Amino acid sequence: MMTAVRGMRDFLPEDAWRLHRLEQAAREVFSRYGFHEIRTPLLEWSELFTRAVGETTDIVEKEMYTFPDRKGKSLSLRPEGTASVVRAFINHGQGQRLPWRVWYRGPMFRYERPQEGRSRQFHQIGCEEFGAAGPLADAQVIAMAMHFLAGIGLGNRLDLEINTLGCPDCRAPYRERLADKLRAHAAALCDNCQQRLARNPLRVLDCKIPGCRVVAERAPHAREHLCAACAEHFSGLEAYLGALDLAWRYNPLMVRGLDYYTRTVFEITTQELGAQNAVAAGGRYDGLVAAMGGRPTPAVGFAMGMERLMALVGTMAGGIAPPDFFLAAVGVEAQAPGLILAERLRAAGRVVEMSQEGGSMKNVMKQAGRSGAPVALILGPDEVAARQVMVKEMASGAQRSVAWDEMLT
Ligand SMILES: [Zn+2]
Ligand SMILES: [Zn+2]
Repeated sequence: MMTAVRGMRDFLPEDAWRLHRLEQAAREVFSRYGFHEIRTPLLEWSELFTRAVGETTDIVEKEMYTFPDRKGKSLSLRPEGTASVVRAFINHGQGQRLPWRVWYRGPMFRYERPQEGRSRQFHQIGCEEFGAAGPLADAQVIAMAMHFLAGIGLGNRLDLEINTLGCPDCRAPYRERLADKLRAHAAALCDNCQQRLARNPLRVLDCKIPGCRVVAERAPHAREHLCAACAEHFSGLEAYLGALDLAWRYNPLMVRGLDYYTRTVFEITTQELGAQNAVAAGGRYDGLVAAMGGRPTPAVGFAMGMERLMALVGTMAGGIAPPDFFLAAVGVEAQAPGLILAERLRAAGRVVEMSQEGGSMKNVMKQAGRSGAPVALILGPDEVAARQVMVKEMASGAQRSVAWDEMLT
């Protein structure tokens, strides 16, 4: 028997419907902030991700689906959404009016160990805003994420954590300082972090291994080493979040896994589902557009994992609605008129499911019951002869004859 590829899961109609509901909610909220949907390809040149996401990240080193195309050029399935959106901005958006605000949704691919709640094909929704340098954009994007999450029912269960990573000017000396401090405690660090020391010491700060956490908690924080402009940005953000009455917590150990962030990074987490889990994460990436060959343009954005949100909202979003009518056609003569009647009702906007051919009255009524439709339209030889249909309320069993023409008004 053929099965799905390991780590790839089917979204059966109930799941697909819930995903769609979340996407619909996102569209509604995001559009109020002036964000419009963009769709980028699932497949990009591998180089896009090695350059944008960073060669020393786990994503690029271990998790990408990368393969040569028929001409031997290296392609990758997108492991995240920002890189493609930045590429699209450079290709098409730079001439547009700034800020350029877009949101995206769709599947992403990472070759990770599949486990509960983590598939190799997973879905994200994200937003990116290009061209706004000040902290107002950060505050607005964070407010938008909180607004969306509150709207799907997670409002009072959310924690917002924020950190600042500075800009290249202040981060380079901070990195040195941090690396020096960490090297002094290198023996206490895990193997991964020992390697990170040389290549990406900031990542030591968010290592979950207890020994590393002890060292990280005593390490210098980026916020204490900001340049004047970065410090002003951060205090501006604090003021705006205060004005919006958004509760948040400063987390100096949050660095995010991606190399491209500058200044603001944030995570929105929830205690639901057992552990502390991130439901949205993002930040500012002022250098990325230029690093990818575009005109220097500041940017800020975030992404959310839809599988986790689907688990969190559970049945809140409801399910697939049953049909309005079940059309129960009994006997050969009733099939064609039934088909026509069903088609006309659908043209009028009603949801109609029709019985299988060849069923007895008892059998088609059983089908009607299983459909969940509140009303069955029964069409037997007598009804066909009289150009009528028997309208039966499934709950009460009450029924009455109605002329075909009347059904459609
Ligand atoms: Zn700075
Ligand atoms: Zn570690």
